[in-house]
Amino acid sequence: MDKNNNDIQSINEFGYSLICEYFASVERQGPGSREATLHALSFIEHLPEHPHIADVGCGTGSSAVLLAKETNGKVIAVDLFPQFVEILNSNARRMGVGDRVDGMVGDMASLPFADEELDLLWCEGAIYNIGFERGLREWKRFLKPGGYIALTEVTWLTDERPEEIERFWNEAYPEMDTLSRKQKQMQQEGYTVVATFLLPDSCWTENYYIPQQKVQKQFLEKHKGNAAAEELVRNQRHEARLYDKYKDYYGYVFYIGKKA
Ligand code: SAH
Repeated sequence: MDKNNNDIQSINEFGYSLICEYFASVERQGPGSREATLHALSFIEHLPEHPHIADVGCGTGSSAVLLAKETNGKVIAVDLFPQFVEILNSNARRMGVGDRVDGMVGDMASLPFADEELDLLWCEGAIYNIGFERGLREWKRFLKPGGYIALTEVTWLTDERPEEIERFWNEAYPEMDTLSRKQKQMQQEGYTVVATFLLPDSCWTENYYIPQQKVQKQFLEKHKGNAAAEELVRNQRHEARLYDKYKDYYGYVFYIGKKA
């Protein structure tokens, strides 16, 4: 029994380190773009001169560094994976905002902020890890009155869709829902919906799936014969193919809300 547990644990740890290695070698760990981040930021009014910002599930930090540059604020960027946080901190130093970006290892289920500490909580492509409604509910207390939340969430774009894609997403993320339902959930959790917009196709293709193609080749060569590595690449390729086939039915939506 002990031995089995150890085996399972080591497989998990190995699996995680592979995921880290794979995603550490691409610029983004989820669909998005510099333009989309800036567009979302443009809806956020009356930020103080040096706002307190959190970037939750920050990955290697494409949004955290940009937010620091654009706002003159202090950005606390939190991610579960130390390797991502290390890359983020070195990117921030390289981009000249190392003194205002503080990458730290942490869990979005127990964030290290005080009540009403933040002017803005940012979260691109990551809230699904604890679920949209739970994240909105649990993070609200960290925002100052009138503080903002800006996040992206994969969203159904139609009321009905083909069974293959419906099944895939229901298994991957049971909270997947339509834009109108997600907006309602935001309101129910005590936010005013300030804006929503759909991320363009290029956020998925040029910025996410295409950069992975090069990495996949190198990754498979390096881990030849490793079943977990092969499965990881197979899954990513499958997801990319599904996106290509069914992109009319789902997308990433930016939701910008204000603590009511
Ligand atoms: N915001 C980045 C990364 C999105 S990928 C971007 O847009 O590129 C999702 C990120 O959430 C990953 O970096 C992953 O390590 C992180 N993550 C997963 N579970 C987490 C948790 N419980 N707490 C904090 N971060 C988590």
